[in-house]
Amino acid sequence: MTARVLIVDDLRPNIKMLEAPLLAEYFEVVSATTGREALTLCQDGKCDIVLLDVVMPGLDGFEVCRRLKADPRTLHLPVLIVTALDQPSDRLRGLEAGADDFLIKPVDEIALIARVRSLTRLKVALDELRARAVSSAGLGLVDPLVAPARPDDARGRILLVEDRPGSAERIVADLRDLHETLIEPQPAEALFRAAETSPDLIIVSLDLENFDALRLCSQLRSLERTRATPVLALANHEDRARILRGLDLGVNDYVLRPVDRNELIARVRTQLRRKRYIDALRDNVQSAIELAAIDSLTGLNNRRFFEKQLAEMLERSAHGGRSLSLMMLDIDHFKQVNDRHGHDAGDHVLKSLAQRIKGALRRCDPICRYGGEEFIVLLPDTPLATARQIAERVRSVIEATPFTLDAAGGQTIPVTISIGLAARGDDANADALLRRADRALYASKTAGRNCVTTAAA
Ligand code: GH3
Ligand code: MG
Ligand code: MG
Repeated sequence: MTARVLIVDDLRPNIKMLEAPLLAEYFEVVSATTGREALTLCQDGKCDIVLLDVVMPGLDGFEVCRRLKADPRTLHLPVLIVTALDQPSDRLRGLEAGADDFLIKPVDEIALIARVRSLTRLKVALDELRARAVSSAGLGLVDPLVAPARPDDARGRILLVEDRPGSAERIVADLRDLHETLIEPQPAEALFRAAETSPDLIIVSLDLENFDALRLCSQLRSLERTRATPVLALANHEDRARILRGLDLGVNDYVLRPVDRNELIARVRTQLRRKRYIDALRDNVQSAIELAAIDSLTGLNNRRFFEKQLAEMLERSAHGGRSLSLMMLDIDHFKQVNDRHGHDAGDHVLKSLAQRIKGALRRCDPICRYGGEEFIVLLPDTPLATARQIAERVRSVIEATPFTLDAAGGQTIPVTISIGLAARGDDANADALLRRADRALYASKTAGRNCVTTAAA
């Protein structure tokens, strides 16, 4: 997993110092010596992550960060503030400016790689969500990252894999006010415990007795249930090689022993926030896509989605010289169902009817709820004669078995549908096709309902 890292510093030697270890880990590096130059590179999409010096002439790092986070084109770029000022107030200012993490000068190479890797992972997850949202664009979705959910700082559930009781108890005590921590003293049980309890974060000691902690980290990454759970490693200074290996395997961050309480709390909070942010975005994207495309009562495609789909299918079939039939169905005397049995019973019939139509069709035939009690099915590669047989089958499947009025079963009523059929014309005009199908449907209604009419081509 690699990324293009933008290093912003007014002093070239500082850029070189950060660049070397990043290049050695196969990151691509871009650089800028002023805040303005950095903003332009970011707006042009020239980088994935930003390392930002604080003290610069002109725009300082905090201001650059603020502007990046205020611009819809750049707000999703993770920003790492690099500061010589190890002052809590500077950390606070950075956070307020929207920075994602910090590095203190002189920069420790492993810390640099760790934070950049972790932010790369964040960026990859965000890009993935974005791509999903964009691929459903045209459904009128706004960029889900533009109005990101604010992650809260609710108590997290942490699984601590640590076989040394003294160390484990200290960490639990450090986190007690903020989070619930469950200690797992037996590394062999940890994977099972993690899958079973779905913690928000897993803290793993890298120096477990008689157990390879890195193997555990790699297993946590390959198991579906724990793949997205952040892992924070506890390590000793001399474990540098193992820390790097762990980061390779997907450990998100680390804290050195002896553990500094404030640092532990800050790193835990960062990981929890990031996880919650991604989870919230994922839910947003999912529900936005569903809202935009799915009818909530029946779970079928909605009219908006259908119109897009019809345009695409028409073009494809016209281009390939293949047939496309369209079936418009409408429930007969549905108003009476509502009037006699109530709106809820009507809804229940609509839902079951949708399922029954779906069951009578091929999987590849898109079906949509076009209006209240009106449905449309697209039949790709299907000439009218075949479409007619399919329509007859759907009609008789509905007629054959009465519908229950609620989920409990009990009372049933007969339901029938009328169908109008039309096929793509040479002009591949969607409106004309819909009009012909609608007229055919109307003909079925006037012919006495519960029948199929085929429109003249
Ligand atoms: P026709 O055979 O001519 O189609 O008669 P109809 O009664 O089915 O047609 P009409 O268009 O007069 O009435 C349609 C009814 O469908 C009216 C409306 O109350 C009902 N309907 C539309 N959408 C919903 C819905 O979401 N839920 C329920 N329960 N009823 C709905
Ligand atoms: Mg009707
Ligand atoms: Mg109607």
